[in-house]
Amino acid sequence: MRCPYCSQDNDKVIDSRSTEGGLAIRRRRECLGCGKRFTTYEHVEATTRLNVVKRDGSRVPYQRERILAGLEKACFKRPVTAEQLNHLVEEVEEALFKRYDREVESSEIGRVVAERLKSLDQVAYVRFASVYKQFRDLDDFLDEVRDVLEGTPPPEGLGQGKLF
Ligand SMILES: [Zn+2]
Repeated sequence: MRCPYCSQDNDKVIDSRSTEGGLAIRRRRECLGCGKRFTTYEHVEATTRLNVVKRDGSRVPYQRERILAGLEKACFKRPVTAEQLNHLVEEVEEALFKRYDREVESSEIGRVVAERLKSLDQVAYVRFASVYKQFRDLDDFLDEVRDVLEGTPPPEGLGQGKLF
């Protein structure tokens, strides 16, 4: 960031916090050239601009809360922390905003989320995938479950029909 006092582009961020309900990031900066402090605002445009195309063709604004709610449901009683979920959503957003700048299919979001959830918690992944991937029939679903669990001991609950 160019310093408004001495015009040097050499500063360090002292403090960052989100404002406007998470739509902007306010950064307090200190110029390493002249030592003066100034504030910048970064607006999270990708978040406000991206529309999600639902299966019925309707469009809704992208909302991080929707993804988090789905993940929390999938991770119910699983050893996954809120911090891990937040981190996962940040990775998902980074991937989505890099590739899509106007609209993205809801199924694509589901795919990107599922891909990352797979390495975090397998039971949560299967729960999530069963909702978001719209398996054509039960065989597809069971194939997916087998792929995930292959070579690993069945997670707790899976053998007892609790998952379904
Ligand atoms: Zn300066």
